[in-house]
Amino acid sequence: MMRTKPIIAIDGPVGAGKSTVARGLARELGFSYLNTGAMYRGLAIAAREAGIDPAAPDLEARLAPILAAIRINFAGDRLLLGGVDVTERVADPEIGDLASRLSALATVRARMRDLQRAAGAEGGVVIEGRDIGTVIFPDAEFKFYLDAEVGVRARRRHAELVAKGVSISLGEVLEQLRERDARDAGRALAPLKRADDAIVVDSTALDIPAVINALKERILSRSGVSKGLKRN
Ligand code: C5P
Repeated sequence: MMRTKPIIAIDGPVGAGKSTVARGLARELGFSYLNTGAMYRGLAIAAREAGIDPAAPDLEARLAPILAAIRINFAGDRLLLGGVDVTERVADPEIGDLASRLSALATVRARMRDLQRAAGAEGGVVIEGRDIGTVIFPDAEFKFYLDAEVGVRARRRHAELVAKGVSISLGEVLEQLRERDARDAGRALAPLKRADDAIVVDSTALDIPAVINALKERILSRSGVSKGLKRN
């Protein structure tokens, strides 16, 4: 399908700065922003509400009606599930953990893939996740892989959670982050990995505006696709 505006894929592990960078970059370019992790979290909230046990042997069968009926929408920074604002629950570490577990299932990934492709197909969008450049939009015009040293990622994630009113220690965050990274990178389906043609940006020593600028420079310097982009 022909796109007049590019798709910008940003993948990477927990705490690499993806959300803040993707949101800021989208704003600067006048693009829309799609947070695919929030979609998996929305599904986790729906599963939790339905009382689904992630250890159930027939987990995929139990999830099937939820997947078929799920409606996930974004209203600015708010996440709507079936029209209900569930934003306050999105950052809950238990929801993140459940999202990570459910995201290893083939039926879950297939449904999310369809929803994400439908949402991004026209381009003019910054999409962040784990498998955007590898699986969802392997033909994305720009692919970035954002990474940072694990201790830095844990500190960022901890500050983010504390700011959202979650009470948790830095040690706990580090442990959860290691666990989730290992699960996301180790799963058989669409594991977290850098696309061969992705540009790696290490944000260990960079602040968010510097990362956004680095990405923006890359995008605007490539002639041909820069048509349709807003220069500030
Ligand atoms: O990015 P975030 O931490 O909100 O994502 C929650 C979980 O959803 C991740 O740990 C990962 O397991 C899953 N996820 C995924 N593929 C994506 C985005 C998120 O598997 N594209």
